[in-house]
Amino acid sequence: MRQSIRKRLSIIIISCSVAAVLLSALLVNITITNTFNKYMEKIQSQRNTRLVEYFQQVYKSDGGWNSTSGEEMMHEAYMSNYCLSLLDDNKKVVWEMNHEDIQNKNHMKVNGKEETGVYTSNIFDIDVNGKTVGYIIVGQYSPVLLSQEDISFKGQINRSIVFSGVLTLMIVTAISLILSKQFSEPIKAVSKTSVSLLKGNYNSRLNVKSSIEEIRNLTESINSLGEKLNSQDLLRKRLVSDISHEIRTPLNVLQNNLEAMIDGIIPITTDKLNSLNDEVIRFGKLLNNLNSLKQVESDEIVLKLGLVNISELLSSVIEDFSIAAAEKDIKLFINKSEDRDFVVIGDYDKLKQVFINLISNGIKFNKPGGTVWINVDSDEDSVIIEIKDNGIGIKKEDLPYVFERMYRGDKSRHKIEGSGIGLTLVKKILTLHSGTIDVESRENKGTVFTVYINKNN
Ligand code: ADP
Repeated sequence: MRQSIRKRLSIIIISCSVAAVLLSALLVNITITNTFNKYMEKIQSQRNTRLVEYFQQVYKSDGGWNSTSGEEMMHEAYMSNYCLSLLDDNKKVVWEMNHEDIQNKNHMKVNGKEETGVYTSNIFDIDVNGKTVGYIIVGQYSPVLLSQEDISFKGQINRSIVFSGVLTLMIVTAISLILSKQFSEPIKAVSKTSVSLLKGNYNSRLNVKSSIEEIRNLTESINSLGEKLNSQDLLRKRLVSDISHEIRTPLNVLQNNLEAMIDGIIPITTDKLNSLNDEVIRFGKLLNNLNSLKQVESDEIVLKLGLVNISELLSSVIEDFSIAAAEKDIKLFINKSEDRDFVVIGDYDKLKQVFINLISNGIKFNKPGGTVWINVDSDEDSVIIEIKDNGIGIKKEDLPYVFERMYRGDKSRHKIEGSGIGLTLVKKILTLHSGTIDVESRENKGTVFTVYINKNN
């Protein structure tokens, strides 16, 4: 059965409240009845003691029993619904009330139903000077005698219980409607936005403010999902256009040159063939890049773990880059904090790839005469490497995307050779090492990449 969350929540809250109200009404009723009955029993036992004392008094003052000995008590007994019989020491009736009078009178309505009860009687000795001179029998139609006021008092209490129950239910219903709205509205909005995202409207966002943590998390997740889908969509479109551009350029060069050669317009020389071969090599590189991208995407990277000294690894990478940097008139500097331990558990080749990519970017996106500074430090838990350059920097709007696959910033940068997957690989490899990377950059000022690698991951 399909039901809205609001309806379901309201039903749950209201049914729980009905059960709670009924249960508490029942408990209150039982407790009050018990306490009331105990109180009445106490009153009755005091009454019995008083009756015995009264008849003792009568015996003493009259010097014996006669047929009017109990008459004075008759009115009170009649009004209080009990019946008296006075017996002498031989248990012979001296005086008695007609218990049918009481029975007729007892045909009273209690809680809406006729109640007469079973007639029960108790006999009490009347002792004078240590000798039993008679007996008094007190009979009644209910174990606890209730006067009309007592019954209406109990009825009043029951009506109050019912009234407070109904009032509670009304309040609970109102609260449940408001509360369930607090849950259902944001969930409705979430489901509407998810459907919209599903239909490809990646700009759909939720604007729900809720004080409920889970709903806030859900809203934030849906919004970041929308952002992710949006940027992935942009990247995908960009990727397709970039790949087709990258392929079309060398292909056109090849085709034009080959056609010209076939038509005999340009001579077939070794130089020409070498330059065409360079284009084919570019093709190959492009395919290699796509292959690395596939690896990154399909989680195919497997680490060969060992102890890696990051400081030594960096020195070796810098040595490899010394010629390329000198050719571009870029200076490379490394600074290592003294007496620190730079050993981590990791995959040497993969970590080397991380720093090759970062340092090559520092050189590639730099200006002649520029500098790349590498700083290595460590604390108890991690080794921290900073790679800083004073090159062309990254635009503020491009910064959030530099780690995305095939992201290469604006078109003007496409003159610089690259594939846009170097940083994607860096991030992936670091994630596999439980490491992280941060980037800070200012356009035309320079860029700093800070890498953190856990010593024990
Ligand atoms: P590639 O270098 O192959 O283009 P990367 O993934 O290594 O791809 O870098 C992605 C983009 O980030 C680059 O195209 C460039 O726009 C920007 N970028 C990366 N490193 C730097 C840097 N040190 N200085 C300026 N821009 C950079």
